[in-house]
Amino acid sequence: VRLTFTPYQRQEDYTGGVIAVVQDVTEQEKLEQQRKEFVANVSHELRTPLTTIKSYLEALDDGAMQDRELGPKFLDVTRRETDRMIRLVTDLLHMSRLDSKEASLRLQPMPIAPLLEEVATRFAIPIERKNIQLVLDLSAPLPDVWADRDQIRRVLDNLMSNAIKYTADEGGKITVRARQKDDRYVEVRIQDNGIGIPRKDLDRIFERFYRVDKARSRSMGGTGLGLSIAREIIRAHGGEIDMDSELHAGTTVTFTLPVREGEGPK
Ligand code: ADP
Repeated sequence: VRLTFTPYQRQEDYTGGVIAVVQDVTEQEKLEQQRKEFVANVSHELRTPLTTIKSYLEALDDGAMQDRELGPKFLDVTRRETDRMIRLVTDLLHMSRLDSKEASLRLQPMPIAPLLEEVATRFAIPIERKNIQLVLDLSAPLPDVWADRDQIRRVLDNLMSNAIKYTADEGGKITVRARQKDDRYVEVRIQDNGIGIPRKDLDRIFERFYRVDKARSRSMGGTGLGLSIAREIIRAHGGEIDMDSELHAGTTVTFTLPVREGEGPK
């Protein structure tokens, strides 16, 4: 809080008083701090793969290229790191578009079930590869939601890829469920029985670049932006997104979408 004192003086009847102006600067400072942290994070996240790529290229240049085993291996590392940078920059672009409101949502009434079926099909290969059991529970009839198909597809992709990434190879199970929450919202729930998240991290999990375990997330190809993008998209629709989790037991992400036009963001 900033306090500004101005002596209060009127020629004819000077009272000797002061005017105190109370201004809340904590919010401003917090935003500035977040902005600085964000720039530092982005720089770090971009620098890490670049440093790796550079050192592997140098090793290739120093003779590893001629090595039948090392050559392809080192090239593979540079390819993977390049892919990660592309993912990161793509995520950053999406985020800045959401921030600038440049990409206004193209809301239209649409059924949610086909979108959930579509995401299940899209991830069929990694799900099968990890031997995960996928349950799609869409039995109840649902009203259409007002949503931007591409954006909701992006949310579902993020949540589904997390559920797969952080679920064990053996005995893994993912349940995707949609139900009518009340007469205003449809609720979508993605539940896994994976590694879970410690309670203390849950509050911050939707923050940009927040990761429970940096090394683990990176080795999984994560950018640390997926959940924050998901939240921005859902909020822009006028819905809410929450995460509940228990370490070593599993994670459930729930989000809502409005069923009527105008229920959305104010
Ligand atoms: P990332 O790209 O690193 O996955 P996200 O923003 O999507 O970033 O997720 C943030 C962090 O939340 C992840 O690094 C991971 O630690 C944790 N997380 C997200 N989803 C799950 C899940 N289903 N199970 C366990 N941990 C998860």
